[in-house]
Amino acid sequence: MCYAIPGKIEAFDNKMVVVDYFGEKKKAYNELDGLSIGDYIYAQGGYAIAKIPEDEAKSILAVWKETFFELQEVDLKLSRLDLNQESVSGEFLRILDKASEGKKLSPDELLILIKEKNKPALELLFKTANFLRQKHHKNSCCVHGIIEISNYCRCNCDYCGIAKGNKNITRYRLTCDQILEAARQAIQEHGFKALVLQSGQDAGYSIEELAEIIRKIKVNWPALIFISFGEVGLDNLKILYDAGARGLLLRFETSNPKLYKQVTAGKDLSSRIAHLKKAYELGYMVITGGLIGLPQQNEEDLLNDILLTKELHAQMYSFGPFIMHPQTPLAKHPSPEVETVLKVIAISRIIDAANAKILVTTALETLNPDARREALLSGANSVMLNVTPLEYRSLYNIYPARAHESESIEAQINDAIGLLMSLGRSPTDLSV
Ligand code: SAH
Repeated sequence: MCYAIPGKIEAFDNKMVVVDYFGEKKKAYNELDGLSIGDYIYAQGGYAIAKIPEDEAKSILAVWKETFFELQEVDLKLSRLDLNQESVSGEFLRILDKASEGKKLSPDELLILIKEKNKPALELLFKTANFLRQKHHKNSCCVHGIIEISNYCRCNCDYCGIAKGNKNITRYRLTCDQILEAARQAIQEHGFKALVLQSGQDAGYSIEELAEIIRKIKVNWPALIFISFGEVGLDNLKILYDAGARGLLLRFETSNPKLYKQVTAGKDLSSRIAHLKKAYELGYMVITGGLIGLPQQNEEDLLNDILLTKELHAQMYSFGPFIMHPQTPLAKHPSPEVETVLKVIAISRIIDAANAKILVTTALETLNPDARREALLSGANSVMLNVTPLEYRSLYNIYPARAHESESIEAQINDAIGLLMSLGRSPTDLSV
């Protein structure tokens, strides 16, 4: 199974290549040498990743062609929007109608959406977001892999199970060889075209070691590499970019500076934001977002979180629910409702309809196993599978009993692909 469809190069346009997929033209940044018109490539997250031999590309395309258009049709059917609902207020319907036409909503209108509690109204909000997702992104859905390379962390955030202050967990740090082997398996054996490398803020790897790991992955098994090592320092972001990392996954957690300080044992939000801005300047694809359900966080805060994500030029939104960990200061704090998370996803889609890729987070799936499906039908179009070696997976214990903690990579892939197909989604990344 592949997570990107081979495309044929039609033209070159400065640093971009124009790629044809069954008649649809897409653009991707090209950093590969020696490409020519007529070559087949994989592209992911807007980057050309690798050239593929023509025979191989043609045989993959032959398999895809049969299902590609069928899937699009299923998706189109599931995305139809009918805004006639007697049980929903005229004002709410008017706002959704405006959103569905792509018009910008006012802050007051957005607040009405995020404060809504009535079920039929929320159903329509989710459907509107799904309609917009289909309209702008068709049925493509990115499937990325994540390797959690270490659970050491020098931070002491109140919500997080791997915080430095938690003395009751087993710490692990994969060796460079273990990381390379996990990346090889994910890319070469399982077909992933995009991989996130994540850890706590771990001083155990030098920046040169991290850069070397990225370089080795890129040389041996071409893929789009995202880093998620926390705040590595602005200069180090450049070093990792030069090594070949092209995405930064770094949540700002909350856009409310007071709340951020309170839940991160006194850290300053401005430092996270500076990293995100610097990453964008350097050319990284930015993935950010926040935690939903922090103590004293209100609906205005959540709306500001979405707006900040857009302001930071995020190409991918990552919002997940807080889930309590018994060995943290927030051990007694409840998780938010699944519906609150779906609301944030749907409003993110409405606010940044044409650009955003929106992730279904593991934390949301942990709250409710059916939530991945619900989120994909509420504006989301991206999933991340955990490809950390199984013996370490449960040790990345930011909260207990994470979804997919003990599932093999094969089982996760089969599950995800089965669900995507049932919703008419292609496990590919065609959008730029
Ligand atoms: N060191 C990296 C990665 C941290 S772990 C960084 O600083 O970005 C990845 C994410 O897990 C965090 O950004 C946080 O939003 C989330 N997380 C931590 N504890 C959590 C909890 N108890 N419930 C849900 N998500 C949590």
